[in-house]
Amino acid sequence: MSLQNDTIAAISTPQGPGAIGILRLSGPEAVSAAEKCFKPLGPKGLRDHPPRALVYGDLLDSGGQPIDRVLCTYSLSPSSYTGEDTAEFQCHGSPMVLALGLEALFAAGARQARAGEFTRRAFLNGRLDLAQAEAVGDLLSAQSREGARHAAGQLAGALSKKIGDIYSALVDVMAHFHAVLDYPDEDIDPFRMEQLDEALAHQEGALNALLASCGRGRLLREGVPCAIVGRPNAGKSSLLNAMLGWERAIVTDIPGTTRDTVEERCELGGVPLRLIDTAGLRDTTDPVEKLGVERSRRAMEEAGLILVLIDASRPAQDQDFALLQEAMALAPTILVWTKGDLPQAPIPVVNMELPPSVTVSAKVRDLDELCNEISCAFPQDLWGDYGEILTNARQEEAASRAREAVRRAREALTAGFTPDALLTDVEEALSALGELTGQSVREDVTNRIFSKFCVGK
Ligand code: GDP
Repeated sequence: MSLQNDTIAAISTPQGPGAIGILRLSGPEAVSAAEKCFKPLGPKGLRDHPPRALVYGDLLDSGGQPIDRVLCTYSLSPSSYTGEDTAEFQCHGSPMVLALGLEALFAAGARQARAGEFTRRAFLNGRLDLAQAEAVGDLLSAQSREGARHAAGQLAGALSKKIGDIYSALVDVMAHFHAVLDYPDEDIDPFRMEQLDEALAHQEGALNALLASCGRGRLLREGVPCAIVGRPNAGKSSLLNAMLGWERAIVTDIPGTTRDTVEERCELGGVPLRLIDTAGLRDTTDPVEKLGVERSRRAMEEAGLILVLIDASRPAQDQDFALLQEAMALAPTILVWTKGDLPQAPIPVVNMELPPSVTVSAKVRDLDELCNEISCAFPQDLWGDYGEILTNARQEEAASRAREAVRRAREALTAGFTPDALLTDVEEALSALGELTGQSVREDVTNRIFSKFCVGK
């Protein structure tokens, strides 16, 4: 374990008044800095209480004056989040108290922690591997239940275990080839060759499965791109606002108001969505609006889900069904009859197979049918076991390098290359897998990962 020799401090709760505000310390002087700024109410000092106990007392400013009545706790290395000595103050969530408290901690010898520095220390001290540390970031920024559950699974080590299993199977293969290198006069018998190829093929399969999870990981992080399309005035902007629960797009009754596309994230029916409101699809000669229409078509082409909106209070037109047909050819589609609160116009008989259809009212915020239909389109088991998916480009790139290296090793084996050529490939696969968990990762890469975290995490 490589402990840092300085002590860091930060406010770990969001800025602004709140019920509770937390000050956090980590490093060799964490407990003594906490002691300097804290006076327990009882007769015992902080360190007379066992680690992890919550001790009630006064937080003192740098002049020794009480600034808040707080709970303080400390943990000792290595049994803490960072692996170092740590201390934490649970204060009232007053920005002024927290600022004064932090000042006092600086006066007691701590320095301001940088973004993600607590988690970085946890990684450097072996408390978390890199995939788990990334999961901390994913958990903090999760925008859907499924995203949060997957991040929690990854934090608990689900992905690290998968990678670890592939890693140790490849180490076994390496060990065998090293043995062959040590005794070059002995040939590898064909049966053994077959076994080795099988072992490599098995790991190639495991890497393929992992890489196949990237698409799901991206959808969880970024949301399923969901295009909301329909003729002008069908109620697209109103539905988008109702889905988001607030007024994001400008709603007017002048056809063609939404000329650009508007994108927002939300969760509906448990599914993370990236909603794309589009300009009304209709033939137009206005060049600005024409651009918007082109964008709408592009949004449909890129969508993972298309909501085709038809105003149920007016007679539907051929154009509506033509659009529906176009959408169904591109992605899973739901036909959404809008303005369900108004008297309904008769639905024309059409000579086409319709997708699942629901009725909504943006006006009275009735989206229940739509929520159910979206959950049916993306059932929970589609996302796979919690935490066992690759969720970012860095992980995808490293896993695909590992897979290519394993493929090359298999080719080398079949082509009868010397064991040392094969070893180079397997070593490369191991090093790429090590990057996933952080065993063999460059410092600039880790710096980049942790700099995306907030200060105090
Ligand atoms: P867009 O052009 O497709 O984006 O349609 P808008 O969302 O701008 O809506 C067009 C008009 O329909 C506006 O006057 C809205 O107030 C109205 N509208 C939209 N949704 C509903 C609804 O659920 N019920 C009622 N009664 N009116 C709605």
